[in-house]
Amino acid sequence: MITHPVNERAPAQIGGARTLMLAQASARRAFTEMYRQLAGEIGGLALAFALSPDAPIPAARSQQFVAAAGQVATRYFVGSDGRSPFGTDGVTPLANYPRILNEALYTATKLPVVAQAKWLKRHLPEDIFAWMAGAKRKSLQESRVAEDLNDEIRKFYEKYRFWYVFHPNPLAQHEHSHRWVDPNGYTLSDRIWRAGTATRTKLDAMLTDAIRNGASASDLAKMVEAYLVPGRLGKRTNRPYGRDASYDGMRLARTEISRAHNYASYAASAVNPYVRGIDFKLSISHPRMDICDDKATIGMTGERLKDPYPVNAAVLAPIHPHCLCVNMPALIDDTAEITAQLREAIQESRRLNLEPHMNAADADAFTRMLFGLYLNF
Ligand SMILES: [Zn+2]
Repeated sequence: MITHPVNERAPAQIGGARTLMLAQASARRAFTEMYRQLAGEIGGLALAFALSPDAPIPAARSQQFVAAAGQVATRYFVGSDGRSPFGTDGVTPLANYPRILNEALYTATKLPVVAQAKWLKRHLPEDIFAWMAGAKRKSLQESRVAEDLNDEIRKFYEKYRFWYVFHPNPLAQHEHSHRWVDPNGYTLSDRIWRAGTATRTKLDAMLTDAIRNGASASDLAKMVEAYLVPGRLGKRTNRPYGRDASYDGMRLARTEISRAHNYASYAASAVNPYVRGIDFKLSISHPRMDICDDKATIGMTGERLKDPYPVNAAVLAPIHPHCLCVNMPALIDDTAEITAQLREAIQESRRLNLEPHMNAADADAFTRMLFGLYLNF
């Protein structure tokens, strides 16, 4: 049995807050552009409904305008059925929001895997890295262990059960993001539809209010832009129609990106034999004491609060909306000892014709496996 030495120093970091922030920032840019485009379309509609840019929309046509604007907004979130963000396969995007989110989830999955691949390349002896990188690209079905294992293989799995690299990785599910069901029973598809509905409801209220107050078409266009483009309103929330209309969509994206990032980091860590556990680092942007303070193993400034979670009992962020806490692998200090034990196990596995399971040494293949079907967006 291998005992993992406790790391008292500040832990070496793979990915962590840096890769999560990169993923969040690039998604924020893409979504901001999307909201700008949506605002532009609705502004164009306002101008088309009025007699001139300086004139208000005629009362007789105002309801029709608000309905048309709402339809445009809805079509940014769901397909022409008005309900589904994704096609029947559950992953092919039917509108702008799910398309941008798919790309963002891919980036959020890939960045921590690449960070882990770089660490492996830098720290592993060549023979171990080559063995890991040589993992075959099998589908989950193919790699599922046959029921009728022979005794020798059974014993081997028993002996090295803590090294998931020898086992089919149960964490490496396809389309984790698209399959995950939240505690309220909503899938990602439901959550996107709800964000779209909230956006439309807010826009309706805002436009109705502005028209009632006699806003001209060009004023409407400016107001829609200020209301829709993230960050334009600043912190003002005292409007009768509520916060920024982008709030719901941006909050959903941020949470999903965190989830995809931390899940990928976790799945890659599980098949890295040099990982002794999974850390939960408290986000520096954490507003106040909350449930995360109990769960965190590393504090805001990088100090260790407690031992990392065992791989098979990890607590993954986000655990509440706006949670930007991050999961990352806790590495083993004595890599030489692990390398010696691993070499022995590899010898045995070759004799039994067992191959390593897909892992982060081939970052691209591992990301594809985690991402599964929805590469063809
Ligand atoms: Zn948190």
